[in-house]
Amino acid sequence: MAEIVIMGAGLAGTIMAYEMKAQMRREDRLTVVTRDPIYHFVPSNPWVPVGWRTRENVEVDLAPTMARKGINFRPSAVTKVSPKDNEIELADGSAVKYDYLIVATGPELAFDEIEGFGPEHNTSSICHIDHAEKAAVAFEEFCKNPSPIVTGAAQGASCYGPAYEFTFILETELRRRKIRDRVPMTFVTSEPYIGHIGLDGVGDTKGLLESELREHHIKWITNARVKKVEPGKMTVEEIAEDGSVKATKQLPFGFSMMLPAFRGIAPLRGIEGLVNPRGFVIADKHQQNPTFPNVFAVGVCVAIPPMGPTPVACGVPKTGFMIESMVTATARNIGAILRGGKPTFQGTWNAVCLADFGDSGIAFVAQPQIPPRNVNWSASGKWVHAAKIGFEKYFIRKMRKGESEPFYETMALNALGIDKLKAVKVDA
Ligand SMILES: Cc1cc2nc3c(=O)[nH]c(=O)nc-3n(C[C@H](O)[C@H](O)[C@H](O)COP(=O)(O)OP(=O)(O)OC[C@H]3O[C@@H](n4cnc5c(N)ncnc54)[C@H](O)[C@@H]3O)c2cc1C
Repeated sequence: MAEIVIMGAGLAGTIMAYEMKAQMRREDRLTVVTRDPIYHFVPSNPWVPVGWRTRENVEVDLAPTMARKGINFRPSAVTKVSPKDNEIELADGSAVKYDYLIVATGPELAFDEIEGFGPEHNTSSICHIDHAEKAAVAFEEFCKNPSPIVTGAAQGASCYGPAYEFTFILETELRRRKIRDRVPMTFVTSEPYIGHIGLDGVGDTKGLLESELREHHIKWITNARVKKVEPGKMTVEEIAEDGSVKATKQLPFGFSMMLPAFRGIAPLRGIEGLVNPRGFVIADKHQQNPTFPNVFAVGVCVAIPPMGPTPVACGVPKTGFMIESMVTATARNIGAILRGGKPTFQGTWNAVCLADFGDSGIAFVAQPQIPPRNVNWSASGKWVHAAKIGFEKYFIRKMRKGESEPFYETMALNALGIDKLKAVKVDA
C-alpha cells in the first residue's frame, strides 16, 4: 500500500486528486491537504469587482466531493515540508507521512516586494476571491467619484492574461455605467511589448492587444518597474534595453489593480534540491523532482525558466490547460511507478487561453509554449466572451462532480488536435 499526499486543492490539486484516484491501485490511500477547504474558480475573479459574479457563484465545497470519491481530505495549511523524512507538518499540529508527495500549492503573492503595493496597502488584486471582493468595494466607491485608473502587471509577474482581461472588463463596465468619459486609463506592464504575455507573443497578440488598447483609449507603458505606490499615486520607472532608467513617471489614480510577482509558498522556500531561489518546485519532464524522486509538482508552483532576457523580469504564465497536462502526466507516472514501472509520461505544457474583455475577447493557442511553434494562433471576437462563460460553467460543474476529463472533453480536445500528453517513444 502507498500513501499518496497532495498539497493544495486549487485548480491543479483538485483535478490532480480526481485523476490520481483513477490511476492508483485499490490498496493505495490518497490524502489531500489544503489551506482553503472551499475551492474558488480563480479565472472568474476578474468578474467579481465589477459585480458580474459573487463568491457564491464560483465556489465549490470540496469536502463532500472528496468524501464521495473516497479521498481523505485534511483542510489545514502545511507549515513545514521535510522531503528527507517524507513528512509534512500541518497548522493543526499534526504530521502526515507520505510515500509520494504531489505539490500543488500555487503561488504566494509577492506584494511585499514593492512599497505600498497590494490589497493591504494602495492597489487592488484579483488573484484571490477575498481580494476580488475587496476590489469590488473599492470599485463601487470609485464609481461615485470617477478619476484615473491604473491597471497592469508588476515586475516579475507571470500572469499577464488576467491583467489585460480585467482592464477591458473594467472599461466595458465603465461604458455601461456611462462614466467612461471621466476615466483616463493607463495599462502598466513589465512586458517588453504589449502582447508579449510572458510567451514572447502568441500569433499576433502584439497587434491584437495594441489595437484593442488603442480602440478603447487606454494608454500603456511597457518595460515598466513599479517603484512604489502611495495613496492615489504610483511611481513607475521605464527601463531601457541596457537596464538603465529611461524615465520616471508619477501616475495618479482613483482605482488601481496590479498583478504581483509570484513566488513559492513559505514552507517550500529554501529547501535545497527541491525548489529554485524563488521557491518554485524543480520538476523534470515527468513532473518529478530530480533530488527527491518521490516528490512531484503541478500547477503554478512548478519552476519554469523565463522565455529569455527582458529589460524587466517577465515570468512564463501557467494556464489551466498547461496545468491539466502536468496533472495527467503526473497521475499516469505515479500509476506506472506503483505497478513497478518507470515514469514515461510527459505533459505537453501547451498554452491554451481565453481572455475575456467583457463583450469580446482574445484567444490563443501556443503549441509548444516555447517558439518556434507548431501552432502559434491567436484571434479575437465576441465569441471569446461566450466561450469563457462556457469554460467557467463547465469547469465548476466538473469540480462539483469530481470528474477530471469526461469523454466529450477528450473528444473536443482531440478534434482540435490539442494533446495533453506528448507522444513518447519508449524503448522495449
Ligand atoms: C486572476 C487570475 C485569472 C486567471 N485566469 C485564467 C484563465 O482564464 N484561464 C487559464 O487557463 N488560467 C488562468 N489563470 C492561471 C491559472 O489557471 C490559475 O492561477 C490557477 O488557479 C492555478 O492553479 P494552482 O492550483 O496552481 O494554484 P491555486 O489555484 O492558487 O491553488 C493553490 C492551492 O494551494 C493551497 N495552499 C496554498 N498554501 C498552502 C499551504 N501552506 N498548505 C496547504 N495548501 C496551501 C491553496 O489553498 C489552494 O487550494 C488565472 C490566474 C489568475 C491569478
